[in-house]
Amino acid sequence: MPVIPVRTALRNYDAVVRHGALQGLAEHLPGAGKVFVVSTPDVWELHGDKVVASLAERPHGVLLMPGGEERKRLAEVEALAERMATEGGDRSSVVVAFGGGIVNDMGGFLAASYMRGIPVVQVPTTLLAQVDSGVGGKTGVNLAAGKNLFGAFHQPCAVVIDPQVLETLPEREYRAGIYEVIKCGVIADRPLFDMLEQQRAEVLERRAGAVERMIADSVRIKAEVVSSDERESGLRRVLNFGHTLGHALEAETGYARFLHGEAVAFGMRAAAYLAELTGMLAAAEGARLRAVVDSYGPIPSLAGVAAENLVARLSRDKKTIQGRTHFVLPEEIGHVRVVTGIDPELVLSAARAALE
Ligand code: NAD
Repeated sequence: MPVIPVRTALRNYDAVVRHGALQGLAEHLPGAGKVFVVSTPDVWELHGDKVVASLAERPHGVLLMPGGEERKRLAEVEALAERMATEGGDRSSVVVAFGGGIVNDMGGFLAASYMRGIPVVQVPTTLLAQVDSGVGGKTGVNLAAGKNLFGAFHQPCAVVIDPQVLETLPEREYRAGIYEVIKCGVIADRPLFDMLEQQRAEVLERRAGAVERMIADSVRIKAEVVSSDERESGLRRVLNFGHTLGHALEAETGYARFLHGEAVAFGMRAAAYLAELTGMLAAAEGARLRAVVDSYGPIPSLAGVAAENLVARLSRDKKTIQGRTHFVLPEEIGHVRVVTGIDPELVLSAARAALE
């Protein structure tokens, strides 16, 4: 059973990856206070019974919230907090954020703010959330001005990952998570990338061994990066590989056409072209990277998206600091570098190539 330690300035904790981990959830909860499980109705309906069974000995309540990016808003967190207050939430309470990345972000933010901060245990249930949003302590909500603009860093006291829950995940959501795993392979783990290339069938069939390896290796990479750079000042930026033009694509299409992971798939293809154009990456490596991304597709049609509009959006991205856009570009599969000051014409060419 992989247990991955995460070390941060404020808290050390473990991420546990184990088939059937939900049944042992109670072992990972701190203190003895009331547990508030935050979840969405669909996840609760599918998997809530296991959580309830594991919490039998512990006072608990369930707070169901609406899913969807448009409801990832401060008002919904406030509504959860009001319900916690009426249902006996106090400083000894613990939040369990049980759901996809939206629940992890909102449940985490609820815990960060309730009575100025109570513990949260992250229990991610989509592949994307298991490999990305459980570990790291980023929590928050969307503003009208943009995604994830309002929030706090609040490290969980444990991350409990049960790959078994992925059996009910819709195919498109599952594939969207695989793109984040490809990202991890490209930034830091060539053997993981090789596995995705060679064991496509096992991965897509969700065979236990392949799924556990994808999750454990990705979490290990995120844990290492987060442990050395909690607040994304430098090293943590490598996790944004594929996200610069990926975010631009999401925004340009109104967050309606592509899932986050699908936009990252596009962003990784574009970044590979850009790395080739700047002379950083050998053409054969770039082609291999794109072939693996494509082999888990296709993503929805890119028809009607203009490269010029994507590039224009980069200057408005929150990752653009003082007018300088940072790109995370591969030097080879398994190793990336953060690069600034790239000629906008090259960025445009790379975006055009990725759109074709
Ligand atoms: P999501 O939370 O919307 O979940 C996708 C859908 O799958 C939802 O309808 C959800 O209810 C359903 N679902 C969840 N688990 C299921 C299961 N086991 N079986 C069947 N259905 C299930 O989307 P997501 O892709 O998990 O997360 C995206 C969000 O995560 C974005 O808001 C993004 O900003 C955030 N995120 C945060 C971080 C971070 O570090 N904090 C990292 C990555 C992404």
